[in-house]
Amino acid sequence: MKDRFLLFMVGGVVVGFVAGALFPSFSLKTAFVGELFLNALKMVVLPLITVSIANAIFKMETVERFRQIGVRAFLYYTFTTALAVITGIVVVSLFKPGTSVSLTGSEFHKEVSFSLKELVLSLIPFNIFKAFAEFDVLPVIVATILFSLAFLSIDWNRKTILHQLLDELDAALLKLTSWIISTVPVGVCSLIAAKVAQMGGAPALKTLFVSLGVYVLTVLSGLFIHGFLTLPFLYFLFTRKNPYSLISKVKDALLTAFATASSSATFPVTLSRSIAAGIRREVAEFTLPLGATVNMDGTALYEAVAAIFLAQSYGIKLSLSQYLAVFLTATLAAVGAAGIPEAGLVTMVLVLQSIGVPTEGIGIILAVDWFLDRCRTAVNVLGDIIAAGVISTQLEERDGRVPT
Ligand code: ASP
Repeated sequence: MKDRFLLFMVGGVVVGFVAGALFPSFSLKTAFVGELFLNALKMVVLPLITVSIANAIFKMETVERFRQIGVRAFLYYTFTTALAVITGIVVVSLFKPGTSVSLTGSEFHKEVSFSLKELVLSLIPFNIFKAFAEFDVLPVIVATILFSLAFLSIDWNRKTILHQLLDELDAALLKLTSWIISTVPVGVCSLIAAKVAQMGGAPALKTLFVSLGVYVLTVLSGLFIHGFLTLPFLYFLFTRKNPYSLISKVKDALLTAFATASSSATFPVTLSRSIAAGIRREVAEFTLPLGATVNMDGTALYEAVAAIFLAQSYGIKLSLSQYLAVFLTATLAAVGAAGIPEAGLVTMVLVLQSIGVPTEGIGIILAVDWFLDRCRTAVNVLGDIIAAGVISTQLEERDGRVPT
């Protein structure tokens, strides 16, 4: 039964690409199927984020425990994001994709602006209902953590109705998610077919693999090295467990990330699969929502590759200090990017400005971003799951095996 589901999932991706390329108008007409799937996922995202974070923090029982997990997550996220950027810088310097593209003008007209000040200001919502209504995930997370910590800090009878309510809501939301997961193959197929069709069908695939082929290959190699070699190696180093067995247990989440290009929309699947794969609930429920919004290894790697690629195609020679600027700004830009499609393109302005590359250059890579966005989102989600796996195992070893 499990094998058959895997077959359906892989079949869904292949059929999606073929249908989008060969039958674009049919794919567009049936796009509503994918939209239904995406809507169903988005419907549970914010309730699940709030309930799971609050539940996790309540279960931690002390602020000290929160600090332990929070500090580990912060250190681990920073370390792996930095590794991702370094991998990006190395592959783009080796492949030099920019030398095969000469930049003449640009068709990029979108207004892009991003500043760190805006990001910091948006962290604390003055109106939580507005943040919910506008699907602003990061402020919702910050508000939930603050409210939950306040509850944790007051001296009260711990067996309150609130505990039970949260537990029950959590279980119901995960049940709902498992129903949505059973439709992944169809949803993924429709989303991919519609996107390929919307990008122009077969010619879009040609651009992907021919015109900007070297650039696409550079990004894919970097993502592959980070996602399937570096991160698994770190997981093995910290846990002594087989990383590929974890990866195979969470494949639905990776596929959903590929189909939706959104870490936030994928979050319900990520959480449900990670808990099923044995990651402690307390850790999964707290770190995964946070990771989906701030820990983006794939995006960080991508930003470094794209910025240096554009510098190469503009003929700009980068100095050592400019590489350092790419390193720092790509890390920050990945933290600042929301877990939604193509958010990384907007925050990339920060990286480009830091090394003096014209931001219109983004127009060139726009043609293939729909595909690369999906690939980097899958690596973003994988990074979150592996981080949760590492932290979960470390805590298990520290506390002795406590039931989750
Ligand atoms: N789409 C990515 C995500 O949701 C963000 C990005 O554009 O890089 O993880």
